[in-house]
Amino acid sequence: MARRFIVDSNDILINDDKNIKISGTEVKHIQVLRHEVDDEIIINKYICKIKHIGRDYIELEKLKDAPVLGVPNINLTLYIAVLKNDKLDLVVQKAVELGVKTIIPFISNNVVVKLDEKGKIKRKEKLQKIANEACKQCGRSDEVVIKDIISFKELLNCMSENEINFFAYENEKDSLYNVISNKSNLKDISCIIGPEGGFTKDEASILKEIYNVSTISLGTRILRAETAAINIISIIMYEYDRRVF
Ligand code: SAM
Repeated sequence: MARRFIVDSNDILINDDKNIKISGTEVKHIQVLRHEVDDEIIINKYICKIKHIGRDYIELEKLKDAPVLGVPNINLTLYIAVLKNDKLDLVVQKAVELGVKTIIPFISNNVVVKLDEKGKIKRKEKLQKIANEACKQCGRSDEVVIKDIISFKELLNCMSENEINFFAYENEKDSLYNVISNKSNLKDISCIIGPEGGFTKDEASILKEIYNVSTISLGTRILRAETAAINIISIIMYEYDRRVF
């Protein structure tokens, strides 16, 4: 199977029916791996043949669509608070492996990481690279999108984009198991995980009021945010991704 490279849309210089010309970090990667003219590689969704390797660009001919592999049957979005140090990196990597389709980091009251606008863009770009690497490593042929870091208010506005939003809240009694048994055949699902210090009481009660937010417990122990994220994603994928629609 041809090796796969994920090229950011900003690094695609030409993309017509037959040809594609790329620049940026994946060019370096292709060069480091010593690919040569006439090698077949996958660029995003296409199997391509290398036509020319320049110093900082590569021209390729599109041969056909790449096979679709490892793509989940559901659209699962993870809303995750911006966590300290490299914890968010870990969550992104594992979320991609487990089948999340979109990741939206947010800043709520108890998030301790301080980011200005430039910092938010840099953080997002780093997370996108981690997601791309994880896609390649686990053999997913789709792209997992890291969206802009949003505020808690913007998070509330996002809820209407999903059929259901599972809000993991350590003070809730109702387990995800009970909630899931009442809800089948869902396709656009999200889960919400708070920061290390959790959501404030006010934030939690605002979220709980939203019509399509289901507040759930992940058990009687308080999990670290990264453990909670991996746990809830695994349960949702187990329950909904195996269904045939
Ligand atoms: N507020 C808590 C505290 O400081 O004691 C802990 C927050 S917990 C470390 C981080 C996030 O993980 C929470 O906002 C929640 O989304 C999720 N979480 C952790 N344990 C959970 C549980 N038992 N049930 C549901 N969600 C949980």
